Amino acid sequence: MKIAIYPGSFDPITSGHLNIIRRASQIFDQLIVCVMVNATKSPMFSQDERVSMIRKVVGDLPNVEVDASRELLAEYAKRKGGCVIVKGLRAGSDFENEFQMALINHKINPNLDTMFLTSEHQYMYLSSSTVKELGGYDVDLSDFLPAQIIPEFKQRIADIRQGGNRE
Ligand code: ADP
Repeated sequence: MKIAIYPGSFDPITSGHLNIIRRASQIFDQLIVCVMVNATKSPMFSQDERVSMIRKVVGDLPNVEVDASRELLAEYAKRKGGCVIVKGLRAGSDFENEFQMALINHKINPNLDTMFLTSEHQYMYLSSSTVKELGGYDVDLSDFLPAQIIPEFKQRIADIRQGGNRE
C-alpha cells in the first residue's frame, strides 16, 4: 500500500491545499494530511482547530486521514509507514525552500521521496497568509477557502479584532 504524507501549517486550509489533497488522494492508496508545528510561524488557529477544519472539508475522501505532529517530518513519515511526501508547488517562490527540504528529508530518511504537484493556475497566488490578510476586509472568500470553514474563519478574525482569542 502506497502511503503519502501531505504536511503543512494549514493555518487555515485553503482551496489550494484542498486541490492538492484531492489530486494526491487519487494517486496514492492512502494520504495522511499532517498539521505540523512551524516554529517560525505564529498560528491563528491551534493545531487541534486546524485538524478539525481539515476534517470538515475532506469528509468525502475516504482514503484521506488527518493528523497532527510535532515530530521531525522524516521521523513522522517513518513511523506512519509513509514512503512519499507530497508538496504543492506554486510560482517560483516555493521552489528553493521545498527543494532544500526534500533533499534534507531524503538524507535523514533515504526511503522517503518528495513528489511535487504543481498548483492549478487559479490557486497559484493563494496562500494562508494572503487569506488572513484579506480576512480583515469585506471580501468574498469563496474562491479562496472551502465553504465549510468560512464562518469559523470569519469568527476568528472578528474575535482577534475585538482583542482576544489568539493562540
Ligand atoms: P502556506 O502558508 O504557504 O499556504 P502551508 O505550510 O500550509 O503553507 O503549505 C503546505 C503545502 O501546501 C506546501 O507544500 C505548499 O507549497 C502547498 N500549498 C500551499 N498553498 C498552495 C496552493 N495555493 N496551491 C498549491 N499548493 C499549495
